[in-house]
Amino acid sequence: MNIEILTGKTTEHLVPLEGTKFLIHKQMLYDFLRLQKDAAADGFDLKIISAFRDFERQLKIWNSKASGERQLLDDQERPLPFDGLSSTEIVFAISRWSAIPGSSRHHWGTDIDIYDGNTQTMESVQLVPSETIGNGPSAKLHEWLDAKIENKGAYGFYRPYATDRGGVAPERWHLSYYSLSRRFMENYTFSLFKKNIEENDILLKNVLLEHAHELYQRFFLNIDLP
Ligand SMILES: [Zn+2]
Repeated sequence: MNIEILTGKTTEHLVPLEGTKFLIHKQMLYDFLRLQKDAAADGFDLKIISAFRDFERQLKIWNSKASGERQLLDDQERPLPFDGLSSTEIVFAISRWSAIPGSSRHHWGTDIDIYDGNTQTMESVQLVPSETIGNGPSAKLHEWLDAKIENKGAYGFYRPYATDRGGVAPERWHLSYYSLSRRFMENYTFSLFKKNIEENDILLKNVLLEHAHELYQRFFLNIDLP
């Protein structure tokens, strides 16, 4: 499989989602539109807040956190004191919330973050767990999705970060199109993971390389499956 596609360096596999600025995998478009249409029939406005994200954008996110410019959070979403952390602690803290540039599932165009446009605006969405459960504004949409996913009626979509496995923090809003993302994952080997870090200017690169194997296992491979 094309390494550029796996690492967010090309858009050749994507199509624009009409009426939005988002790009998604062309082979996912049909099923996504079906999911969105059925959600609409049940009273939900299933909207995307993030779809394809390229390498450069992920690099900016990573570097702003690795440099202390952007706030780091602990597992309870509380601010962490940047200056009190070792570089290894910084790498593991960022990895709970943000992927290493070149290894984000959002590079593939098969993964999207969603919300209910009937109850939230794009500007108000924070992508925090409380929005998707209990009385959260997008909770009803997610309950609807829960039922669809359990009955295999979510048109090939599932949640890779449904539960806390000690890797990426739970993200109910993150959906993945399994038939495609499965293949991307299979092709994303440890040697590619390491090569991607070696060949790019990513902050804290030496720490990433030192812990490459653990990071790959814990934050890349360690996901929920349908
Ligand atoms: Zn996401």
